[in-house]
Parts: sequence; C-alpha cells; structure tokens
Amino acid sequence: MGPQDETRVIVAARVRPTSEQEDARGEQGTMYCPDQRHLLVCHGGREKAFSFDVVLGPQSSQQDVFEECGMKKLIDMAIVGFSCTVFAFGQTGSGKTYTITGPHSLFLGSSQEPQMYGLMQRSVSYLLDQTQSMDGDVSLSASYLEIYNEQVRDLLTPWLTSSLSVRGNQTHGFYVENLSTVELGSLEDFMKLLEAGLRSRRTSSQAQNEHSSRSHSILTVSIRAEAANANEGTATQGKLCLVDLAGSERLRGPSSTEDLLEEAANINRSLLSLGKCISALVDPRKKSGHIPYRDSKLTKLLSDSLGGAGITLMIACVSPATANLQETLNTLRFSSRAKRIKNRPIAKHVLREKLVVSLQGEIRLLRSENMLLRQHLSSAEESARRSSVPISACYGGSEPLGKVETDPVAEGSSCSSVCLKNLLQELMQDNRRLQEEKAALLNCIQSSKQQGALLSLENAQLLHKLDELQRSDTPVICYVTPLTTCCKSVCCMCRVISSTAHATSSCSGPSLCGRAAHCSLQCVHHQLPLAIISPLHRCRARVALPPLRALQAVASGEKYSAQTEIQSEPPSQSAGLHGRSGTESRGRIQHFLALRDSRALRGRPAEPPSWRSPNKVLPSAPPISALSKGATTR
Ligand code: ADP
Ligand code: MG
Repeated sequence: MGPQDETRVIVAARVRPTSEQEDARGEQGTMYCPDQRHLLVCHGGREKAFSFDVVLGPQSSQQDVFEECGMKKLIDMAIVGFSCTVFAFGQTGSGKTYTITGPHSLFLGSSQEPQMYGLMQRSVSYLLDQTQSMDGDVSLSASYLEIYNEQVRDLLTPWLTSSLSVRGNQTHGFYVENLSTVELGSLEDFMKLLEAGLRSRRTSSQAQNEHSSRSHSILTVSIRAEAANANEGTATQGKLCLVDLAGSERLRGPSSTEDLLEEAANINRSLLSLGKCISALVDPRKKSGHIPYRDSKLTKLLSDSLGGAGITLMIACVSPATANLQETLNTLRFSSRAKRIKNRPIAKHVLREKLVVSLQGEIRLLRSENMLLRQHLSSAEESARRSSVPISACYGGSEPLGKVETDPVAEGSSCSSVCLKNLLQELMQDNRRLQEEKAALLNCIQSSKQQGALLSLENAQLLHKLDELQRSDTPVICYVTPLTTCCKSVCCMCRVISSTAHATSSCSGPSLCGRAAHCSLQCVHHQLPLAIISPLHRCRARVALPPLRALQAVASGEKYSAQTEIQSEPPSQSAGLHGRSGTESRGRIQHFLALRDSRALRGRPAEPPSWRSPNKVLPSAPPISALSKGATTR
C-alpha cells in the first residue's frame, strides 16, 4: 500500500441473539440477514435495508466474527508497520464487550472456554503465532487504558489514582503520557493482563446489561519488527488497537444518582463528539475543513483511525429486540455513514537506535570539520585582504613570488578568490589524507587487538600447564647431604626450589629438629627468608611444590614430565626413593643424624656442596654412595 492510497473504513454489523429475558417477554426479532452483506430491519410495517462489508447474524460464533471481519489481514498489516484499529459500538447491552473480550463469565473463573474468546484474545494469539515464525527481531508490548468521565486511567496500574494526560505533537499525533506498557511473550501473559485490566474497569448493572461498561477501553498492542533482510537500520513499528466503547445511554429519571447521571452524560458527550467527527469526515462540504477531534479524549485518541493514517474496522453491535428498535436504527445509520470515511494508511518505519546514534556522531564530526574549514577560509580571506602578496604564493600557487600589486581593489579581489580556491583544495586534500590516516590507525588497532587476544590465549594455555603441574601428585624429590652445610631451600612466594650453599661461618644452617626451618638467606625476588626443604621436617607444603625443572620447562615451553625426572635417576636409587615405608624412612633419618653427630665429633670439615647452581636445572642426584647412609627423600 503506497502512501497516497486511500482506503475506506471497513464496517461490519453484528446482531446478537435475543436474551433469555427478551424471550421470556415474548420479544419478536425485528431484523434478518438475507446474505452476508445485507441487513433488513422491520420498522413500522416496512423493511429498511442496510448494507455493510460484513453482516453477522445471531448464529455467528466468535470465530466467525474473527474470520469474516478480516482480522487476520488487519493483524498482518499491523506487523508490517500500519496502525490498525478495531472498535465496537452500539447501545448498552448490544454485545460490544462480548465481541471484543468475550462474555463476562470468562473472567469470573466460571467458564474457561476458548471458543468464547473475543477478538482481543484471538488477535493476540494470531499475532504471537505470526511473529514467532518470523525471521528477525520482533517485540510485542501492550497497554490498556479506559476513559471514564473524560479522565484517562491506566488499567494496568489502577492503584495510581491520578488521571493521565493526552498530549499531541506533529511526530506522534495524540498519545497518552506516562502510560505503562507490558511486554507480551505468550497468550497466558496476555490473559493475565486482560483479567487485571477488566477487573479495574468501571462497570455497573444496567437495565440492558448486568455488567455494563461505564467507560471506553482501549487495548493497544505495539509491534516492533526488524526483518532479517530489511534495509539496514530500519524497523517497522505497527500497532493494533482494540476499542470497546461504552454504550449510548438514555438519561434516566429522578431515581438516578448524581454520579450515574454525570457518567451517562460524559459517555453521551464523547459519543456525540465521535459522531460529529464522523459527520465532518464524510460531509463533502467539510472534507478539507476542521474535524473536531479535540472535543473529547476519545476522538483525540481515535484521530489516526478516523480520516488519518490508520486502517480501521468498525463493528456495529445491535440487539434484535423490538424494545431497542430506535437505538438499533440509530446505530445502523451511524455505521452506514462511517463507511464513507477514507483513510490514507502509512506504514511506520523507524531507524534503529544504534544507527541513529552513529549517524548523529558522524553529523557532529562533519559539522565541526565544516566549522574548521570556514574558519580557515575566513582567516585566509582576512590575510588576503591585508597582504599585497597573493596567498597562493604562500601555498605554492602559480603566481611568481614578490608580485607587486598594482590595483588593490580589482586585482586583489580576483587574486584572493584564486588563492581561496587553492587553499580550499589544499584543505580538502589535507582532510582526505587525515581520513586515510584514521582508517590506517583503525586497522592498526584492529590487528593489535587480535594479537592481544592471541597472547592472552597463549598465556591461558601456559597457566593451565603450570596449574596441571602443580596439581600433579608427584612428590618433590630433594636430597640433602649428610652434613647440613648446604640444603635445598624455597621461597614461599615464588616457590622456586634452589640449592643454597651456606658458608660455614655465616650460616647457622637449617635446624634439623625444629619444624620452622629457615636459613639466613633471603629470596632475591621477595626478600623473604628461604624455607628449608628437609626430609626431617614434615612440612606438607613442600609436597605440592613443583620441581624447579618443571617451572623452567613451563617457562621455556618445553614438555616436562615429573616421571622423566625420576626415570633419569639410577634405578637402584629411584627404587629406594619411592615406595619407602615410614619405618624405613625413620631408620634412615636416625642413621643420618648419627652419622652427622659422629662426623662433628671427629671434627671433620663439612663436605662442599655438590649441587649445581639453583638457576640452572634441578640438581642431579648425588651419588648413591653419598646417600646410602644419610640421604633420604620426601
Ligand atoms: P455491551 O458491552 O454492548 O453493553 P455485552 O457485550 O456486555 O453488551 O452483552 C450484553 C449481554 O448479552 C451479555 O450477557 C452477553 O453475554 C450477551 N451477548 C452479547 N452478544 C452475544 C452473542 N453474540 N451471543 C450470545 N450472547 C451475547
Ligand atoms: Mg460493554
């Protein structure tokens, strides 16, 4: 549908069946439907014929109404961005609420029959089905309001007593300020919303209807759809409004309370202004004239559907009872007139927010660039005016340097325009160059980001390797000489095992009988005393320490297995190191102590340490002969 295409308001008429009370009173039906487009009303012995787009007789079901009135087509239009409105009107008790929401019993918990669902439930169900099978992003949200005594109330936040304002502007038309909306994800969500809304809606018992609605209600479902293959940056923003009008009312006698009279007067006033708008819209003399939308809140909010950019379906609800004949004829005449209203539907496309923000940024940038260029131009103009030397000379122009100005007015002005041209060209070149530089920088940033990502991946792999090594159960193997002038030590922070040679004079050496054995040397990295790894100290922490070789292997990226370390030792020694029983270990320790004491007694000098420097590799095992009496393992 193009923006210039006109479309007529679609009008359907629904005749409800006679009620039990009407049957009991012996009411005769006053109308019949010869076909799906005509309605005949018996009036004063004559038949009056009305024709509509669709006529639904008393036997028609709720599903018939949904199908015959073209609701599916209407919802499809709303999905692609059109603003579609359905409203039911007619006298009180004619079946408007029944058509739009279903019978009142649906919401009392007494009946849960989906076949009784009104247009609201059926439309939302169809809408959800259609949008869920669509490619691309679709979001549905709903608002529900009522207009009671010319006050707009949000039916989804009924605890807020203050009425909402109806505002209007060129972009959005008329809208209700601060109206709450709820995301729609499923039909269950919607049923809850509808129940809550209907509970808050004003109703009262009337002669024609036990649960007569005393307000006009408008349910709006907004559909924002971004089709997967849509033009970049655009989305459609359609809506479907379902309006249940309050019934027209005869003002009652002296028994009516003041409140009820005011209620009825307000209902009639807003319906009257609706009628006036429709009359103005279809009157050929007033066609391009003033339409009194501003007379009531109802007509303001329906302005898009009546002669605006929306697509509209009106359902005239009528009662077949003779007692309601006059009201029925009024409704049918009113709806016949409404058939002539023409709208110019326009689908609403909105730009995606992200694109808008980036475009706004670009505009800002271009504006500042523009401003800079203007400043350059004006300063160049200024200097051209002041100086006798042509500016182009300064900017490498073709005129010879030192050209003497003969006529400052005529020649100067032609010169300055040439100069300005040159200057402008140079500035434009500068601009192009800067843009190229910017693109190159962006590329650079991109590639360094990729490199960073690769490095952090490598880092994570290394950390993982290290973690695995630290977690391995392989015990740390350490050797100590029978004499404790040297030992293996470790810093608890960096956990690097090192062989430390203690000069006999300066170092007290590890205390072999105390639990907290520290030597007098400190870790070069953390300035912490180095803990001694001694077979005599049953410090558990050292079991988890990775061998130095493992750490070095991790750092250099080479593969390391603790098993290799063990296998490299002589088989006899290896066998002795592992699987040793506690008693055997204790025996060896005692032997070691005895040997140390006997050597000390004999005053022999301590054997020099035989281990290699700690920052190389893990010291190779001392000869088995040296260990045989004193060395042990953890
Ligand atoms: P309105 O909203 O126009 O005041 P309602 O929709 O509340 O009227 O209908 C008045 C009564 O008529 C309700 O009891 C309703 O159940 C019944 N009614 C209306 N239309 C039909 C229909 N098509 N089939 C059966 N009952 C209907
Ligand atoms: Mg009603």
